[in-house]
Amino acid sequence: TPSPSRVLDTPPTPEVPERVAVLLPMPFPGPFDYKLPPGLVLHAGDIVTVPLGKRQATGVVWDTTPHLPPDLATPSTQSPIAANRLRPVLSKLDVAPLPAELRRFIDWVAAYTLSPPGMVLAMTLRPHMQGQPTPTMGWLATTPLPAGLRATPARQKILALLADGVPRATTELAQAAGTSPGVVRGLVDAGALHAVRLGPANPFGRPDPAYCPPVLEGAQQHAAEALRQSVRDNRFSVTLLEGVTGSGKTEIYQEAIATCLTEGRQALVLLPEIALSAQWVERFARRFGVRPAIWHSEAGQKTRRLTWAGAADGSAPVIAGARSALFLPFHKLGLIIVDEEHEGVFKQEEGVTYNARDMAVVRGRLAGFPVVLASATPSLETLANAHTGRYHHLMLPTRHGGASMPETTVLDMREAPPPRGRFLSTLMVDAINQTLERGEQAMLFLNRRGYAPLTLCRACGHRMECPRCTAWLVEHRARRILACHHCDHVEPLPESCPACSAEQSLTAIGPGIERITEEAHDLFPEARVLVMSSDMTGGAAATAEAVNSISRQEVDLIIGTQMVAKGWHFPHLTLVGVVDADLGLGGADLRAGERTIQLLHQVAGRAGRASAPGRVLLQSYTPEHPVMQALLSGDFNTFMEQEAAQREPGFWPPYGRLAALIVSADTMAEADATAAQLGHNAPYGDGIEVLGPAPAPLALLRGRHRRRLLLRTRRSIAVQPILRRWLGMVTPARGTRIDVDIDPISF
Ligand code: ADP
Ligand code: ZN
Repeated sequence: TPSPSRVLDTPPTPEVPERVAVLLPMPFPGPFDYKLPPGLVLHAGDIVTVPLGKRQATGVVWDTTPHLPPDLATPSTQSPIAANRLRPVLSKLDVAPLPAELRRFIDWVAAYTLSPPGMVLAMTLRPHMQGQPTPTMGWLATTPLPAGLRATPARQKILALLADGVPRATTELAQAAGTSPGVVRGLVDAGALHAVRLGPANPFGRPDPAYCPPVLEGAQQHAAEALRQSVRDNRFSVTLLEGVTGSGKTEIYQEAIATCLTEGRQALVLLPEIALSAQWVERFARRFGVRPAIWHSEAGQKTRRLTWAGAADGSAPVIAGARSALFLPFHKLGLIIVDEEHEGVFKQEEGVTYNARDMAVVRGRLAGFPVVLASATPSLETLANAHTGRYHHLMLPTRHGGASMPETTVLDMREAPPPRGRFLSTLMVDAINQTLERGEQAMLFLNRRGYAPLTLCRACGHRMECPRCTAWLVEHRARRILACHHCDHVEPLPESCPACSAEQSLTAIGPGIERITEEAHDLFPEARVLVMSSDMTGGAAATAEAVNSISRQEVDLIIGTQMVAKGWHFPHLTLVGVVDADLGLGGADLRAGERTIQLLHQVAGRAGRASAPGRVLLQSYTPEHPVMQALLSGDFNTFMEQEAAQREPGFWPPYGRLAALIVSADTMAEADATAAQLGHNAPYGDGIEVLGPAPAPLALLRGRHRRRLLLRTRRSIAVQPILRRWLGMVTPARGTRIDVDIDPISF
């Protein structure tokens, strides 16, 4: 039988064996050709080092046959380099090759997002770009050895080392035998060694599908069986798992994972905030006996290396990760779960702007396995796909174990405003007092860090603004600073107004959670208060500790930003108070309503998850707003139908396609010049429309002036070919950038 490294993904091309295309993790338009040095056998997917200018770079042997649909395929712009000018590949790394299905996925994502393929590859290769990789492939001697093998002393040393039947990597063998790696390669090419995956150094442990399965009730049973069946079918499908908070969605997708493990395939779970999800990890361990492998950017380099290798050789059967886990080189991926699929954090906004939720579906389609999208408040995109039947739709209508949904009340702040200088209305204060008296926990939610969002001079009206962004500076009183929440600008809180020099005239306007905390200490002096926000020092460990202290009931009142809205399970929490339910509804963004209802529903879902019933109080100046009405009635579907009805006629997503072009430059004039050029060359046609140029939502960001154009087309029209042609007609001045954002999440 042929050894794994000898199986070709593409048929050999004996006519030009000396040329090999290598994709580098850099912003070039495509792969570069290199010469194959004598004695090196390479296949598509192999990870290699090559010379690049005066440096050395790590890259991947890339396929030369394109496999993209016509809309996404780009014509090659490179003219071939003459064979005698090619530089040679330097070495092949001892790691498993990137599977063909991942290479296809990388090409697809690059073409879809109009990014250089090397920048997408960089998301896969990152652990290998930082220092030497840990070998994952080793060699064993072939028995019997090929007849006529030339047995030089160096070769004999290597074969002797392998006599114990333990596979070893090239570098290890060469070092132990005191020879060059070329000797090992010579033996490989002579057919005397064959490749095996290195093991069993498996730090992950095997999740046991039968470890502790739950007993499922009615609707849960049906949903779990449908998911298990889709995993057994092992074909591409997408299922929306919709269910109110606490209905058992996590419990059910874990059953799909169990089946995937039984079938011998790997599963990937994408979570919005994995770095903070200690609760989720522990829960997985209770179900499967061991923790899953973890992948996110804050995990240490060692953890990332291990997880990468575990994905590649299959020794990590389940990986839970942030969006970038989508680019791991899975050996045998059979299922992707996207939990809280509506979450904006799945969209990467810098570099390659991709939405991990959508690309998870693409990866499933290219490789042929099921994808599950779970949410209590699915995005309009996903709902539309479910309604047209493209996605299966499973519903869990009630909370598990007879727990009721929290009872929601909107407090009309126009009728009962809080006392002067306060932000909590009397009704809210009373409700908190009652909750605390019963020995239960309460939570106050305000999605705004710091003390106050605006600092204003009472004498001249001057507002403290960021010099580098279109944004107010936010006071952080404990640190005695004003900070911009869009860049890293920080300045000391001034004593006098910088505009009119008036003393003590600067006033904090509006609340942030610091200010609510101050008010809470005043109003509930006995309560043990815990503040949870991303300002919290100590990162994941501190968050985990905070969550534990809440569960142990060492805390009475929790005050937090959207961090408290994550999927936490706090059994003693019975009251959730939203300080400003209207926050987020202002502005022109068409998606503001959808986003607000998703966030508030998620926050509200923290209340009453155990036996004691929960209550939710929403402070609002617009109680008649459809968002408040939907939260009151709990009728998420009707609200989303209204949203759909608003977006459909104008072909707004998901009823049309959208791409944003963001022009940025150091001066407004430069940004305007390129934006105008784009405007003059704007594409037109039936079902194609360009809006703008207009100031981008943050017209000044980190000192860069920004203009935006939106390309909107009917669903049947792909935006990529239009964008490629359009961008080809415009030459931005030096220092001016045009960034493409396909499927922007704000519009
Ligand atoms: P969701 O993900 O929809 O918010 P969860 O899966 O977190 O819901 O379930 C809510 C709570 O109910 C969790 O504590 C979970 O362990 C529990 N639960 C749900 N279904 C069952 C079940 N069939 N048996 C035991 N506990 C369950
Ligand atoms: Zn700023």
